Formats: sequence, C-alpha cells, structure tokens
Amino acid sequence: MAGEPRSDCLFCKIVAGEVPATVVRETETTVAFRDINPQAPTHVLVIPKEHHPDAAALAAAAPEVAADVLREAGEVAAQEKIDDAGYRIVLNTGAGAGQTVFHAHAHVLGGRGLEWPPG
Ligand code: C5P
Repeated sequence: MAGEPRSDCLFCKIVAGEVPATVVRETETTVAFRDINPQAPTHVLVIPKEHHPDAAALAAAAPEVAADVLREAGEVAAQEKIDDAGYRIVLNTGAGAGQTVFHAHAHVLGGRGLEWPPG
C-alpha cells in the first residue's frame, strides 16, 4: 500500500532506526540527516517517514507530507545557516537523473557557490 514501510528500503530502515544516520531534525512526518557522501559543506537529506518511491509519487499520494518535506528543507537551511547565501533543494527523480535510493528525498545543499545548470 502507498506509504507503507518496505523491508528492502534503506531510508525506511533509517526511519525505523535500523540503519544509523546523523539526524539533524525530525518531525512527526519527516527526518533530516546528513548525506554520507556530501557534495557540499552542508548536504542534508530530508525524507518523509512514509515510503514513496520518488518526490512526484509522494506529492500525488500525500501532498501534505510533500509540503512538510519542502518546509523542513527550508528549516534545515536556516538551522545550518546557509539560507542567507542561497542554497539548493534537489529532487532527483528516476535513475536517469541520478536517483539511487527509491524513497522520496530532498537534498539540501549549500555552504559553497552552486553552478547552474547542474551536471
Ligand atoms: O538522489 P539520490 O537517490 O542519488 O540520493 C541518495 C543519497 O543518499 C546519496 O547522496 C547518498 O550519498 C545518500 N545516502 C546516505 N546514507 C546512506 C545511503 C545513501 O546519505 N546510508
């Protein structure tokens, strides 16, 4: 069923506390933790606690939780003090766009200059 935890999903295991992560924020519906392979001085992932395979599926099935993820991305940026200089929220969607973990997540990247367009 949409939103149910999956035993084969790494991020569901992080939500359940079965895989360690450096959590920086948590709400009733979301968890934010540091990316293990940071691409910028600040690189935090915000994930919904519910399992949805990508951001579009999350927005279609649970738009209020998708809004929570985006709100939390902004809160992470403020907490990490990268909001004044500008930061990037990235939602890789599909393997062709670089998505490797098929549980919706928003990358929050900042603390250095960010080029456009991304690679
Ligand atoms: O958008 P994409 O699916 O590629 O992002 C997945 C991210 O999850 C990667 O940046 C990877 O470094 C991160 N990751 C993590 N902790 C894990 C496994 C992956 O932060 N245990």
